[in-house]
Amino acid sequence: MNKIIIKNANIVTESEVFTGDVLINGEVIECIGRNIDCPDAEQIDASGRLLLPGAVDVHTHMDLDVGIARACDDFYSGTVAAVCGGTTTIVDHMAFAHEDVSLMHQVEEYHRLADGNAVTDYGFHGVLQLMNDDKLAEMRAIAEREGITSWKAYMTYGANMTDDEWLFKVLRNANEAGLVIPVHCENDAVVETLKAEFGAAGKLQPRFHPLSRPAGAEAEAVSRLLHLARLAGDAPAYIVHLSAAESLKEVSKARHAGQKHFGVETCTQYLALTDAAYDDDSEGLKAIMSPPLRRDSDCSAIWAALAKGGMIDTIATDHCPFTFGEQKQLGRSDFRKCPNGAPGVEERLGVVYSEGVAKGRISLPQMVKYLCTEPARIFGLYPKKGAVLPGSDADLVIMDPDAKRIMSIKDMHTACDYTCYEGIELTGRIEKVFVRGRLAAENNEFTGSRGYGQYLRRGVSSLI
Ligand SMILES: [Zn+2]
Repeated sequence: MNKIIIKNANIVTESEVFTGDVLINGEVIECIGRNIDCPDAEQIDASGRLLLPGAVDVHTHMDLDVGIARACDDFYSGTVAAVCGGTTTIVDHMAFAHEDVSLMHQVEEYHRLADGNAVTDYGFHGVLQLMNDDKLAEMRAIAEREGITSWKAYMTYGANMTDDEWLFKVLRNANEAGLVIPVHCENDAVVETLKAEFGAAGKLQPRFHPLSRPAGAEAEAVSRLLHLARLAGDAPAYIVHLSAAESLKEVSKARHAGQKHFGVETCTQYLALTDAAYDDDSEGLKAIMSPPLRRDSDCSAIWAALAKGGMIDTIATDHCPFTFGEQKQLGRSDFRKCPNGAPGVEERLGVVYSEGVAKGRISLPQMVKYLCTEPARIFGLYPKKGAVLPGSDADLVIMDPDAKRIMSIKDMHTACDYTCYEGIELTGRIEKVFVRGRLAAENNEFTGSRGYGQYLRRGVSSLI
């Protein structure tokens, strides 16, 4: 067994920062302490460096087939990008099947896409579409067999959406079976109406994308979901990619009313980017995603909620890259035809550290909580993932907290041809990333191997 000892690191957990050593034995952390002596281990001096748990991204879309295009990162390039950016575990959201098939159909498809390709460990969220009673039973059976303990529902996206009747039934089923329901919250009727009206008026530039999906359409759906979850017996729901201050008000109402079993996710882009990205008719295509980027005041409100605590649980990415040179151009003359999504899995830790911790908006332990520990807890991976603890997987990131760099697609590993954060100056640089005890990235070079990533059968959520 290979042994590695990381000495004198500033170890960051969700609750504290302390200086110490971490001994890795094979794939796991054996012990943590001061002055650990282990002469047969490889020694790494991490003085002045941060040591974090490998980050967990519970919202990615590798190899996503949206019908008109396929996300340009597959499970290999996407997880290479992830690991170079300090993320050692992903939980990927499956694509719709685009036909009426059993829920197992996409599970098999995703094993075909990911197994033997991923370089980080990975799990899947199941996807719900065209629901019926058989599929309610199937959710439970697959959860048991495959460890897929979360099932995503969409409150928008036409024929694939889950309407209120089925959302209520799904939530009740989840409550009985101990499953979590991540939900994309936007009011479909509002979005479809506005899109049609902008189309009819010839308002087809990217700047009409955010206007067609207003913050209120998200807030209404967040509120409706939370009410449905409460009516289903305080069922475990999880709001994905919350983007707006108005939605936070609905979350706050439910929290204050004592609703307990729900989680809230935001994403890097809703913290660090604004709707100014749509001003340019061409470049604006890069930021077409749903929900759209919001105003500066929304970013501030989300940062404030993260700093205060008790409102938002996780920061993910919704990584769903399409090339600007080709795929995004489908929307050149009509924003409605642009495949929705942007890259983010490689950028997240660097941007959240720099914009959040280095700028004093959140603390280091808070960052670890939102990027590592809470996502692992909510999706049944803790304490194997998301923690620096004896017995946890040796998924670790060593970071220089003070180094400066400029983010540029030229230095990145995604198969995508752009980053939304091009040219921003970042504080902090990731030096080494370990996945289960193996060095997988060093100084922005991938050093792992295709297929090293293991499928994660996930357990019970902390929301239950
Ligand atoms: Zn998504």
